[in-house]
Amino acid sequence: MKSFTDHFTSNANNPEFYSVFQQLQYGELHIKRDTASGLLAIIAIHSTRLGPALGGCRFQPYHSLEAAIIDCLRLAQGMSYKAAISHLPLGGGKAVLIKPNKTYDRTHLFRLFGQTVNELGGRYITAEDSGTHMMDMDIIRTVTPYVTGNSQQSFIQKDPSILTAFGVRRGIEAAVKYQLQKDSLQNIHVAIQGVGNVGYRLAKELHQHGAILTICDINPENVKRCVAEFSAKVIAPEQIHQVACDVFAPCALSNPVNTQNINEINAPIIAGSANNQLENLELAVRLKERGILYAPDYVINAGGLIHVYAQYYGKQESIAKENVNNIYNTLLIIFECATKENLPTTTIANRLAEQRLYS
Ligand code: NAD
Repeated sequence: MKSFTDHFTSNANNPEFYSVFQQLQYGELHIKRDTASGLLAIIAIHSTRLGPALGGCRFQPYHSLEAAIIDCLRLAQGMSYKAAISHLPLGGGKAVLIKPNKTYDRTHLFRLFGQTVNELGGRYITAEDSGTHMMDMDIIRTVTPYVTGNSQQSFIQKDPSILTAFGVRRGIEAAVKYQLQKDSLQNIHVAIQGVGNVGYRLAKELHQHGAILTICDINPENVKRCVAEFSAKVIAPEQIHQVACDVFAPCALSNPVNTQNINEINAPIIAGSANNQLENLELAVRLKERGILYAPDYVINAGGLIHVYAQYYGKQESIAKENVNNIYNTLLIIFECATKENLPTTTIANRLAEQRLYS
């Protein structure tokens, strides 16, 4: 494949995305390139069977077009599963805008991207994601109605991470009830990896409910506010997974649980907001063998999607919160089925989502 010099320094030739495309049961894949502006956008629509494919738009550099496509395909499939398990009338989609390595006009770029979204006629609805902000959604909104999370929408709380954190707290409560037979978070020790938008709000919720916190972050300012506000104990980022605690809550990067560190995890529960928490699905089996209860990421972190869905369709905030609150019950069902059938929680969650997606 020819290199796109506005975007990449290396030239990769990797046909992996064809097999990912097939394995993930796609769907549609759209690529839009505009050399004058530097736009190189990928939109993956995994499914529209349950409704339009709603999913965020990432803006970040990639080392190759193939890497960006694979990321987009996997993320869009995850959105289908997240919507299905949350009983939302939505499909799954995602967009990736590859950040140019040359100067670019951000407004122009997002306007062109918005036009591309518009050409899909509502099959894909875009939203904020890593590297994009509400002001980008405001630009997109000037050229298409198929965008949510912009400043004109009526929600008082515009930031989806508030509902995401609430859902993660409810998910931790379900896991603590199931695994530790405790009805309260009082004195439950939680180790949070990453106290950014979601992690900080989760720390606040947990602190208000009497939990004890150990935290880490690579950003010292984020660490400081958790120490000042919640008396959190601080540990180095490379040690957070080893903390002897009740709950390990990954709220930063992809793959916080990987082949290198799985045996060092020292908590009976893993429950956090990060997307793609397990490096591969085999690790779900290893966690089960180690007696560690894993709350599947796309179930526990669905609060953000529920927020943007409710905003887009003009639902009341209270209804959205009630829907997020239900993450507690969904997880309990998954935990109970997993024990009964002696299967990893991820298998049960995927099966539930697939029943809704494909039946
Ligand atoms: P964020 O960027 O605001 O926060 C991430 C935090 O992790 C930052 O403070 C960053 O400094 C820190 N960090 C980065 N690398 C780290 C490392 N190696 N060790 C420790 N800390 C590190 O992002 P966010 O919006 O809070 O999202 C966190 C995670 O939750 C992401 O995986 C995101 O995809 C997922 N998620 C977020 C939402 C939402 O509503 N924002 C919804 C669903 C899922």
